[in-house]
Amino acid sequence: MRNGTCALCGHTKVIELRPKSRGYRSAYNPVVVANIDAGFFSAEKEVGQLLVYACLKCGFAQTFVEDVESVPIGPKYETRLVRTKRSSEPPQK
Ligand SMILES: [Zn+2]
Repeated sequence: MRNGTCALCGHTKVIELRPKSRGYRSAYNPVVVANIDAGFFSAEKEVGQLLVYACLKCGFAQTFVEDVESVPIGPKYETRLVRTKRSSEPPQK
């Protein structure tokens, strides 16, 4: 999708948009993945802007996180790292 080709129908025109929240932000209309403490004078800094790519033919849309490596991981940020276990690794308890 991000290269301009629809992942569903193969159409070659895709629009990129930044979703905006209206009013109260919730888990159902987020525009960023996490808020981090930005220091004394600024309470929070938003990281992980969501970008939506939508096909101009069929309307299929996918969501990606911009600059995903800047998103902090941990319960404090309400994020969690999910990793795939390789079959050669022993199972963890
Ligand atoms: Zn499409």
